[in-house]
Amino acid sequence: MFSHNKRLQYTLRVSESNPGLANLMLEQFGGSQGELAAACRYFTQAIGEDDPGRKDMLFDIATEELSHLEVIGTMVAMLNKGAKGRLAEGVDSEAEAYRSITAAGNDSHITQVLYGGGPALVNSAGVPWTAAYIDTIGEPTADLRSNIAAEARAKIVYERLINLTDDPGVKEALGFLMTREIAHQKSFEKALYAISPNFPPGKLPGMPEFTNVYFDMSKGGDVRGPWNQGPQWEFVDAPDDQVALDGGDGSATVRMTPEEETAVDAMALRTASDPLGDPQTGAELGMSEDAMLNTLNDQLDKTR
Ligand code: MN
Ligand code: MN
Repeated sequence: MFSHNKRLQYTLRVSESNPGLANLMLEQFGGSQGELAAACRYFTQAIGEDDPGRKDMLFDIATEELSHLEVIGTMVAMLNKGAKGRLAEGVDSEAEAYRSITAAGNDSHITQVLYGGGPALVNSAGVPWTAAYIDTIGEPTADLRSNIAAEARAKIVYERLINLTDDPGVKEALGFLMTREIAHQKSFEKALYAISPNFPPGKLPGMPEFTNVYFDMSKGGDVRGPWNQGPQWEFVDAPDDQVALDGGDGSATVRMTPEEETAVDAMALRTASDPLGDPQTGAELGMSEDAMLNTLNDQLDKTR
């Protein structure tokens, strides 16, 4: 069950109206790295989880993310509040209202005109929130890694937002939200390493002959480091040693029924290209006579 406490998780003191800034904050309300995506990600994982420790942690963090959604959404509403009142009550002349609503920049006029200054489930560019932001796969050693990365991305977006405002109250609340993503990243990482073994993810081992091989497939500017050198790695440099690694001829085959084979042969015959032909194209039909003569001369030169 849920219950709700109207006191925010962190007190919000916004210094002044700023619809342009409000619009940027939507990134963490309805954006891909935002709080709704985080809450839904962990809430659905919690429901599907059977391990009592992870289930508890995921429900705790999911519920905290909803509390963050409340803080960032309230921040959007506070930053828009003054402008919202002016527009709703028609306080300014049309020209003045038009100027002020567009002067804030970015897409903040959409937040004003379409959403009346309230937070909408869109990102800072007005793109609607989608469940496709959540990449849960239902295997904890994979999901926890993805959760760690999601917390890292959320932390970075908050860091960028902090760098965009000099409003001390906004900066402070964003700093709190950013800090909580650090704590979540730590919990998820601890939970991942509380599973042993956790690598590779899942149950099946890799093919041993390919698990510790590094293929140097991009030539030039090679840099060696712990990711491709040392006792754990076999470094394969020569292009000829990077193909048909199974020892076969590297071709692809498939067994077909006789009917499938007849149809595939018929299609191949129907769409066969003639390497000897020189078909006239629509482009050539539109050429000037001079251009056509030049083309013909070029072809003659080549045959001489
Ligand atoms: Mn959060
Ligand atoms: Mn988080």
